[in-house]
Formats: sequence, structure tokens, C-alpha cells
Amino acid sequence: MAKIELSHVSKRYPNQALPAVADLSLDVGDGELLVLLGPSGCGKTTTLRMLAGFERPESGTIRIGDEVVANGSAWVPPERRGVGIVFQDYALFPHLTVTQNVAFGILRLPRRERAERVAAVLDAVNLAEYAGRYPHELSGGQQQRVALARALAPQPRVLLLDEPFSNLDPELRIALRYEVRSIVRRSGITTVLVTHDQGEAFALADRVAVMHQGHVHQLADPETLYRRPASRFVASFVGRAQFITGRVCDDQVHTELGAFQVQAHLPCGAPAEALLRPDDLHIQPDREGAGLVVEREFGGATVRYGVRLPSEHVIDVIQPSGHLIPLDSTVRIEVLPRDPVVFPAP
Ligand code: ADP
Repeated sequence: MAKIELSHVSKRYPNQALPAVADLSLDVGDGELLVLLGPSGCGKTTTLRMLAGFERPESGTIRIGDEVVANGSAWVPPERRGVGIVFQDYALFPHLTVTQNVAFGILRLPRRERAERVAAVLDAVNLAEYAGRYPHELSGGQQQRVALARALAPQPRVLLLDEPFSNLDPELRIALRYEVRSIVRRSGITTVLVTHDQGEAFALADRVAVMHQGHVHQLADPETLYRRPASRFVASFVGRAQFITGRVCDDQVHTELGAFQVQAHLPCGAPAEALLRPDDLHIQPDREGAGLVVEREFGGATVRYGVRLPSEHVIDVIQPSGHLIPLDSTVRIEVLPRDPVVFPAP
């Protein structure tokens, strides 16, 4: 186990106008599971590859534990960094059994210790009874668990996972992510996982670093990212963001759904927008209400309503499906959070 620290790390590939990673700083605590989340091309994989030692940063410092593994003068090669890696395309050796695949990285150990280690990690990923099989005799999820066992066998200081579920079908992805989370938790290993899938990030992470164009926009726990996003980009990338516009007066933005406190100072009269998630709103039939239900989508546990405001703006409201509200109902709209995040209008 070890903490990880990246400090002012930059990386530009040859012949590229923009850096893939630009002045990026972040830390991962001992035993923490950090997720790098962001759209394709934002620099997640490059960051992971620099941690692994497959890419050299142009500037900045990378520390694993107390050791500087990369900076202007120091360089520790991948095989001496003590990292275990799982890629999206399992990359198992097709001609080796599960046991042989898992043992591959620990061939230097005495035979008996090696066998014990392999048995222990296969047990940890619930594949003990598949030890003698070949990769083609396993499902995609099982193959990915073998890849995880192989990465864990050398007892690395940190575990790096690059889109480990992206080649699996949706149901398996969800099952496997809980499994991976519990394996990683039990082993207590410091882990960095890369994904572009917000649901996956929220389900797995202690904290999430939201990346965009080589920068970290915000590094926080999932709830903070969802409720208190630091930028419009983060607000829109994690969950459904809708903004209700208004004008600032006396440190409040006045909108058709009420007045909300402005967190940073904005001049009187400035246009601003309050972030309202669909689950931040509650509607109730009321003849005097200002909203009209113009859409209804039954989703099982919850229903999504499209509610038209006096301005003609239609906002989404999601609430439990226990009491369905008919289409064309006039409704009162309640904003649940007292202090939604307010951004200056773009
Ligand atoms: P992500 O993992 O978030 O999709 P990457 O780290 O793979 O992003 O890529 C970041 C940027 O660097 C992208 O613009 C990508 O095109 C570029 N890039 C990645 N790898 C290379 C490479 N080997 N050579 C040149 N450009 C690259």
C-alpha cells in the first residue's frame, strides 16, 4: 500500500498542438480508490500510463509512497514501481491456464510460495474452481477477474485499472464493478481507475477526479461532485444538469422558481443561473400552481415529468412513482435544496 502524488505534471505527445495532460496535480490516499473520470481524450489514460511508467512526464513530479518515480532527474522503470495493471482488453495469454496466467508475474518466487499466492488471489476473485481452465473457456467477466488476480499476485503497492469493464455487457459491468470494489476494499490496495462512465465512477470511488482537456476540474467525493460541482462542465458531466436563469440582486439570483443565494459575489443586475437537478424538484397538483405537466415517462421506481414553466421553459422533475400525477395537471413546484449552486450566466 502506498499513497500517490502527482505534482504539476505535464505531458505533450510529439506533433500535438495541445498537451494531453497539463499541469495536473492530485493525490491518492493510502488505500483509497480514486477514479479518473472524463470524456474521451481528456488525458485519463495518459495520466495512468505516466503512473505506470509507460510514459515520461515532460515536467512535474510523480511519487508513489515516499519514492519519487519520475521528475526532471529521477526515473524508476515500470517493473520497479510496484504497480499492478489491468487494461480493458484482458490481455491474458491464450495458451496458458488460469493458474499459469496468474503465476506469470511471480515466477521468481519459490514453487510452493508461488502456488500459495496463486491460490490466495484466485480465491479472492472467486475463481478457485477455474484454475485449470484456459481463457477461451471463461466468460468476459471471468477473464477480467483473472486479469485482476494476475495484477494482484505480485502484491503491488498500487493497482491501476484502465476502463476495466468497457468490453463487458451492461449487466455484467454492474455485477463486476461491485465485485472489484469489494476485492479492492478487502485487499486495502491504493487504486486508480479510469472510466468515462459517471455511474461507474460514483459506484466505485472514494473520490473522483473529473478531468477535461488535460486538467482536473474537481477532485471530490461523488456526493460533493453531484451537489456542489465547481464548474458548469462538472455539473453537466456528472448527472443531468438544468439551469434556471435569473438576475442577481442583493446576493440572490431571482428566478421564476424563487430566489437563491449567490455563493460568489456577482454585481447587481448580472445574469446568473441556478443548477437544479431533476431530483432537486418536487411537484404536487395545485390549481394555483405555476407549472403544467407536459411530459410523463414512467421508469418503474421513479417517474420523470416534463413541467412547463410560465416562461415556456420545460424542466425535468424526477420523483418516486407511488402517486402518479396525470399529464396536463397544473402543479406547484417546490425546490428542495435551500442553496443550489449558482453560476454566472455564460
Ligand atoms: P483519455 O484516456 O481520457 O481518452 P488519452 O490520455 O488517451 O485520453 O489522450 C489524451 C490526448 O492525447 C488525446 O488528444 C489523444 O489524442 C492524445 N494522445 C494519446 N496518446 C497519444 C499518442 N501516443 N500519440 C499522440 N497523441 C496521443
